[in-house]
Amino acid sequence: MKNTIIFFIILGSLLGKGCCHIDTSSSKKRSHTSKNKYWSYHGETSPEHWEEVEKGADCGGRYQSPINIVAAIDDSSLQPIEFHYDDDTDIDAVVNNGHSIQYDFEKGDYIQIGTIRYELLQFHFHEPAEHTIQGIRYPMVIHFVHRSEEGAYAVIAVMVKEGESSPAFEFLENYLPVREGERKEIDTSFDINSALPQQTNYYHYTGSLTTPPCTEGVQWYIMEEPITISVAQVVALQKLMPLHNYRNEQQLNGRTIRHSF
Ligand SMILES: [Zn+2]
Repeated sequence: MKNTIIFFIILGSLLGKGCCHIDTSSSKKRSHTSKNKYWSYHGETSPEHWEEVEKGADCGGRYQSPINIVAAIDDSSLQPIEFHYDDDTDIDAVVNNGHSIQYDFEKGDYIQIGTIRYELLQFHFHEPAEHTIQGIRYPMVIHFVHRSEEGAYAVIAVMVKEGESSPAFEFLENYLPVREGERKEIDTSFDINSALPQQTNYYHYTGSLTTPPCTEGVQWYIMEEPITISVAQVVALQKLMPLHNYRNEQQLNGRTIRHSF
Protein backbone atom coordinates (compact mmCIF):
# COMPACT_ATOMS: atom_id res chain seq x y z
CA MET A 1 0.00 0.00 0.00
CA LYS A 2 1.21 3.44 -0.80
CA ASN A 3 1.79 5.96 1.90
CA THR A 4 -0.30 8.39 0.04
CA ILE A 5 -3.03 9.80 2.15
CA ILE A 6 -1.82 12.63 4.08
CA PHE A 7 -4.21 13.99 6.51
CA PHE A 8 -5.22 14.88 9.93
CA ILE A 9 -8.66 15.88 11.06
CA ILE A 10 -9.77 16.64 14.50
CA LEU A 11 -13.43 16.27 15.07
CA GLY A 12 -15.01 17.55 18.13
CA SER A 13 -14.90 20.10 20.79
CA LEU A 14 -11.33 20.49 21.85
CA LEU A 15 -11.87 21.57 25.40
CA GLY A 16 -8.34 22.07 26.53
CA LYS A 17 -7.46 18.39 26.33
CA GLY A 18 -7.92 15.58 23.88
CA CYS A 19 -5.81 12.96 22.28
CA CYS A 20 -3.70 14.66 19.81
CA HIS A 21 -3.56 18.30 18.99
CA ILE A 22 -5.18 19.32 22.18
CA ASP A 23 -3.95 22.81 22.27
CA THR A 24 -3.42 23.53 18.65
CA SER A 25 -4.93 26.96 18.36
CA SER A 26 -3.10 28.34 21.35
CA SER A 27 0.13 26.74 20.12
CA LYS A 28 -0.35 28.42 16.81
CA LYS A 29 -0.96 31.71 18.50
CA ARG A 30 2.19 31.35 20.54
CA SER A 31 4.23 30.94 17.41
CA HIS A 32 3.06 34.31 16.19
CA THR A 33 3.43 36.18 19.43
CA SER A 34 6.78 34.97 20.74
CA LYS A 35 9.99 33.35 19.65
CA ASN A 36 9.13 30.18 21.55
CA LYS A 37 9.18 27.07 19.45
CA TYR A 38 6.17 24.82 19.51
CA TRP A 39 5.71 21.25 18.46
CA SER A 40 5.14 20.10 14.93
CA TYR A 41 5.72 17.02 12.81
CA HIS A 42 8.60 18.41 10.82
CA GLY A 43 12.09 19.82 11.22
CA GLU A 44 13.50 21.01 14.51
CA THR A 45 10.17 20.84 16.36
CA SER A 46 9.33 17.32 15.11
CA PRO A 47 8.40 14.46 17.51
CA GLU A 48 12.05 13.69 18.31
CA HIS A 49 12.31 17.18 19.85
CA TRP A 50 8.98 17.43 21.68
CA GLU A 51 10.61 16.73 25.03
CA GLU A 52 12.78 19.84 24.57
CA VAL A 53 10.34 22.20 22.88
CA GLU A 54 7.33 21.41 25.09
CA LYS A 55 8.65 22.00 28.58
CA GLY A 56 6.48 20.51 31.31
CA ALA A 57 4.93 17.97 28.96
CA ASP A 58 5.28 14.21 29.52
CA CYS A 59 6.72 13.43 26.09
CA GLY A 60 9.90 11.99 27.62
CA GLY A 61 7.94 9.63 29.92
CA ARG A 62 8.37 5.86 30.13
CA TYR A 63 4.86 4.87 29.11
CA GLN A 64 4.28 6.69 25.86
CA SER A 65 2.33 6.04 22.66
CA PRO A 66 2.26 4.90 19.93
CA ILE A 67 3.90 1.47 20.10
CA ASN A 68 4.30 -1.56 17.89
CA ILE A 69 1.57 -4.08 18.83
CA VAL A 70 3.46 -7.34 19.16
CA ALA A 71 3.33 -10.36 21.52
CA ALA A 72 -0.19 -9.51 22.67
CA ILE A 73 -1.68 -11.85 25.27
CA ASP A 74 -5.13 -13.29 24.53
CA ASP A 75 -7.38 -12.30 27.41
CA SER A 76 -11.01 -13.43 27.45
CA SER A 77 -11.68 -11.36 30.56
CA LEU A 78 -11.34 -8.07 28.67
CA GLN A 79 -14.69 -6.26 28.58
CA PRO A 80 -16.39 -5.60 25.24
CA ILE A 81 -16.64 -1.99 24.10
CA GLU A 82 -20.24 -0.85 23.90
CA PHE A 83 -20.60 1.93 21.35
CA HIS A 84 -23.35 4.43 22.04
CA TYR A 85 -22.81 6.69 19.04
CA ASP A 86 -26.01 8.22 17.70
CA ASP A 87 -26.81 7.47 14.08
CA ASP A 88 -27.51 11.14 13.38
CA THR A 89 -25.01 13.19 15.32
CA ASP A 90 -25.25 16.82 14.26
CA ILE A 91 -21.95 18.09 12.83
CA ASP A 92 -21.92 21.85 13.36
CA ALA A 93 -18.89 23.03 11.43
CA VAL A 94 -15.41 22.28 10.16
CA VAL A 95 -12.51 24.51 11.14
CA ASN A 96 -8.92 24.72 9.95
CA ASN A 97 -6.90 25.89 12.95
CA GLY A 98 -3.63 25.92 11.06
CA HIS A 99 -2.46 22.64 12.51
CA SER A 100 -5.30 20.35 11.65
CA ILE A 101 -8.83 20.18 10.37
CA GLN A 102 -11.42 19.99 13.13
CA TYR A 103 -15.11 19.15 13.03
CA ASP A 104 -17.33 20.42 15.83
CA PHE A 105 -20.31 18.28 16.75
CA GLU A 106 -23.00 18.01 19.37
CA LYS A 107 -22.18 16.15 22.59
CA GLY A 108 -23.89 12.98 23.80
CA ASP A 109 -22.04 10.12 22.07
CA TYR A 110 -20.16 7.78 24.41
CA ILE A 111 -18.72 4.30 24.92
CA GLN A 112 -19.16 2.00 27.91
CA ILE A 113 -16.39 -0.40 28.93
CA GLY A 114 -17.25 -2.41 32.03
CA THR A 115 -18.57 0.07 34.53
CA ILE A 116 -16.86 3.11 33.02
CA ARG A 117 -18.57 5.49 30.64
CA TYR A 118 -16.37 7.63 28.42
CA GLU A 119 -17.81 10.61 26.51
CA LEU A 120 -16.65 11.12 22.92
CA LEU A 121 -14.71 14.40 22.73
CA GLN A 122 -13.44 14.39 19.16
CA PHE A 123 -12.09 12.23 16.41
CA HIS A 124 -9.32 12.86 13.95
CA PHE A 125 -7.03 11.10 11.50
CA HIS A 126 -3.34 10.42 11.18
CA GLU A 127 -1.55 9.53 7.99
CA PRO A 128 0.03 7.08 8.11
CA ALA A 129 -1.21 5.21 11.20
CA GLU A 130 0.70 5.72 14.44
CA HIS A 131 0.47 2.29 16.10
CA THR A 132 1.85 -0.56 14.04
CA ILE A 133 0.57 -4.15 14.32
CA GLN A 134 3.28 -6.79 14.06
CA GLY A 135 5.39 -4.08 12.46
CA ILE A 136 2.77 -3.31 9.81
CA ARG A 137 1.80 0.31 9.40
CA TYR A 138 -1.60 1.03 7.87
CA PRO A 139 -1.89 4.05 5.57
CA MET A 140 -4.23 5.84 7.95
CA VAL A 141 -5.90 5.62 11.36
CA ILE A 142 -8.88 7.29 13.02
CA HIS A 143 -8.56 8.12 16.72
CA PHE A 144 -11.81 8.45 18.66
CA VAL A 145 -10.89 10.33 21.83
CA HIS A 146 -13.04 9.85 24.94
CA ARG A 147 -12.91 11.04 28.53
CA SER A 148 -14.66 9.71 31.62
CA GLU A 149 -16.31 11.86 34.29
CA GLU A 150 -13.22 11.26 36.46
CA GLY A 151 -10.97 12.61 33.69
CA ALA A 152 -9.58 9.27 32.42
CA TYR A 153 -8.88 9.06 28.70
CA ALA A 154 -9.79 6.16 26.41
CA VAL A 155 -8.83 6.31 22.74
CA ILE A 156 -10.17 3.91 20.13
CA ALA A 157 -7.95 3.50 17.08
CA VAL A 158 -9.53 2.28 13.84
CA MET A 159 -7.05 1.37 11.12
CA VAL A 160 -7.87 2.33 7.53
CA LYS A 161 -6.71 0.47 4.43
CA GLU A 162 -7.39 0.74 0.71
CA GLY A 163 -10.35 -1.26 -0.58
CA GLU A 164 -14.09 -0.57 -0.86
CA SER A 165 -15.09 3.08 -0.76
CA SER A 166 -16.34 4.53 2.50
CA PRO A 167 -19.55 6.60 2.78
CA ALA A 168 -18.18 8.11 5.97
CA PHE A 169 -15.16 9.51 4.19
CA GLU A 170 -17.32 10.71 1.32
CA PHE A 171 -19.24 12.80 3.80
CA LEU A 172 -16.14 14.26 5.41
CA GLU A 173 -14.49 15.06 2.09
CA ASN A 174 -17.52 17.06 1.01
CA TYR A 175 -16.57 19.88 3.33
CA LEU A 176 -12.89 20.12 2.46
CA PRO A 177 -10.65 21.87 1.88
CA VAL A 178 -10.97 24.62 4.46
CA ARG A 179 -8.42 27.43 4.42
CA GLU A 180 -6.31 28.20 7.49
CA GLY A 181 -8.35 30.18 10.00
CA GLU A 182 -11.58 29.49 8.14
CA ARG A 183 -14.72 28.00 9.70
CA LYS A 184 -17.24 26.37 7.39
CA GLU A 185 -20.75 25.72 8.70
CA ILE A 186 -22.06 22.21 8.07
CA ASP A 187 -25.12 21.66 10.28
CA THR A 188 -25.77 18.20 8.86
CA SER A 189 -26.23 14.90 10.67
CA PHE A 190 -23.63 12.17 10.37
CA ASP A 191 -23.57 8.55 11.54
CA ILE A 192 -20.23 8.18 13.31
CA ASN A 193 -20.86 4.42 13.50
CA SER A 194 -20.23 4.29 9.76
CA ALA A 195 -16.54 4.80 10.48
CA LEU A 196 -16.34 1.72 12.76
CA PRO A 197 -15.40 -1.85 11.77
CA GLN A 198 -17.94 -4.68 12.16
CA GLN A 199 -15.75 -6.81 14.42
CA THR A 200 -14.99 -5.26 17.79
CA ASN A 201 -11.99 -7.33 18.91
CA TYR A 202 -9.19 -5.07 20.06
CA TYR A 203 -5.68 -4.76 21.45
CA HIS A 204 -5.43 -2.95 24.76
CA TYR A 205 -2.60 -1.37 26.72
CA THR A 206 -1.99 1.79 28.76
CA GLY A 207 -0.06 4.59 27.07
CA SER A 208 -0.23 8.31 26.40
CA LEU A 209 -1.65 11.00 24.18
CA THR A 210 0.41 10.95 20.98
CA THR A 211 0.85 14.72 20.87
CA PRO A 212 2.07 17.19 23.51
CA PRO A 213 1.46 17.25 26.40
CA CYS A 214 1.79 13.44 25.87
CA THR A 215 -0.24 12.82 29.05
CA GLU A 216 0.14 9.25 30.34
CA GLY A 217 -2.51 6.89 31.75
CA VAL A 218 -4.47 6.78 28.48
CA GLN A 219 -6.40 3.54 27.88
CA TRP A 220 -5.78 2.50 24.29
CA TYR A 221 -8.15 0.23 22.37
CA ILE A 222 -6.77 -0.58 18.93
CA MET A 223 -9.39 -2.33 16.81
CA GLU A 224 -8.12 -5.46 15.12
CA GLU A 225 -10.27 -5.13 12.00
CA PRO A 226 -9.53 -2.19 9.69
CA ILE A 227 -12.10 -0.26 7.68
CA THR A 228 -11.53 0.50 4.01
CA ILE A 229 -11.59 3.53 1.75
CA SER A 230 -11.18 3.49 -2.03
CA VAL A 231 -8.06 4.44 -3.92
CA ALA A 232 -10.00 7.37 -5.41
CA GLN A 233 -10.77 8.57 -1.89
CA VAL A 234 -7.12 8.27 -0.99
CA VAL A 235 -6.17 10.43 -3.95
CA ALA A 236 -8.88 12.98 -3.17
CA LEU A 237 -7.87 13.24 0.47
CA GLN A 238 -4.25 13.63 -0.44
CA LYS A 239 -5.10 16.96 -2.02
CA LEU A 240 -7.24 18.16 0.87
CA MET A 241 -5.30 17.31 4.01
CA PRO A 242 -2.06 18.21 5.79
CA LEU A 243 0.71 15.63 5.45
CA HIS A 244 2.49 13.07 7.65
CA ASN A 245 0.93 13.80 11.01
CA TYR A 246 2.23 10.91 13.05
CA ARG A 247 4.54 10.26 15.96
CA ASN A 248 7.23 7.61 15.79
CA GLU A 249 7.14 4.32 17.76
CA GLN A 250 7.81 4.53 21.51
CA GLN A 251 9.45 1.98 23.82
CA LEU A 252 7.16 -0.56 25.48
CA ASN A 253 9.21 -0.55 28.73
CA GLY A 254 7.67 -3.69 30.19
CA ARG A 255 4.03 -2.92 29.48
CA THR A 256 1.65 -5.76 28.67
CA ILE A 257 -0.50 -5.70 25.53
CA ARG A 258 -3.74 -7.70 25.75
CA HIS A 259 -5.94 -8.96 22.95
CA SER A 260 -9.69 -9.40 23.36
CA PHE A 261 -11.45 -12.23 21.55
ZN1 LIG B 1 -4.46 10.88 17.42
